[in-house]
Amino acid sequence: MDPKEQRIKIAVQKTGRLTDHSLDLLERCGLKVRKSKDQLFCYGENMPIDLLLVRDDDIPGLVADDVCDLGICGLNVVEEKRLERDANGKNALFKRVYDLDFGHCRLSIAAPEGTRYAGPKSLENAKIATSYVGILKQFLAENSVSADIEYFSGAVEIAPKLGKADYICDLVSTGGTLKANGLTEVETLLESEAVIIQTQVPLGGEKQELVDKILQRLDGVLQVRESKYIMLHAPRSALAEIRDLLPGTEAPTVVPLEGSSDRVAIHAVCRENVFWETLENLKAAGASSLLVLPVEKMLA
Ligand code: ATP
Ligand code: ZN
Repeated sequence: MDPKEQRIKIAVQKTGRLTDHSLDLLERCGLKVRKSKDQLFCYGENMPIDLLLVRDDDIPGLVADDVCDLGICGLNVVEEKRLERDANGKNALFKRVYDLDFGHCRLSIAAPEGTRYAGPKSLENAKIATSYVGILKQFLAENSVSADIEYFSGAVEIAPKLGKADYICDLVSTGGTLKANGLTEVETLLESEAVIIQTQVPLGGEKQELVDKILQRLDGVLQVRESKYIMLHAPRSALAEIRDLLPGTEAPTVVPLEGSSDRVAIHAVCRENVFWETLENLKAAGASSLLVLPVEKMLA
């Protein structure tokens, strides 16, 4: 068999909010890539994994059409494309396999400040500008509301000022853009983050094994982001109290201290951040020589 066919192709946003995070995550999973001259393709030098750099809107389609095996893209785009394919009578042919915990935002309906909004019924016969026609249509149908959807491909937030819409339905993260345009959020349709999607076409043993390995490494990478390794000394009698104070720890390692009959050293991985307050509480419980270290890699 052509060994090239055993390579995994991952679609990643070329330039945008998801690009740096996506490339950084793959790098942390151990992947080293070389960019092609046209900057559209990254060849995996140390793993049989290549990246295709494209517009985020094209990612679900590339995965659905089996051009790429995996794609990293916002859930907002994934859901919109799924509904679009649904409406056109096509199967989605991609499945969400992993949530990446970055690129957080929400798809919301917003109105000019001062608009009186009393729930979805207020949208009846209103004009709503959006580039998320599928998700908006679904929301309106679920609430038995009929409204006039105006498709905007960008700069949706200026539609009300231009007199083109009463409401907008767009992505929000901090709300700064809405505020700058005199708009206020009235309804959230979808909470979004970056996700990995995989083609529904079976990959075959070797390729699927490689995908599973990447997902397992991602587990490790995402877990260590918050995790800390904590070391401290404490009297044996305080063990139970200290264990309760350690955030997100399973079984700590307890070792006797040379030359001391009642003090022990406790080592533990905390799967949550360790704050000063926790350290102060540990000290109050009898702990000393507290040390908190970052965790670089973890394999459960
Ligand atoms: P492309 O050129 O690839 O089509 P784009 O302009 O559609 O880029 P970006 O603005 O880079 O896309 O956003 C990519 C994704 O980042 C969004 O689809 C969304 O999932 C996520 N995101 C997070 N916060 C925001 C935000 N405040 N506004 C827009 N997108 C956000
Ligand atoms: Zn886009």
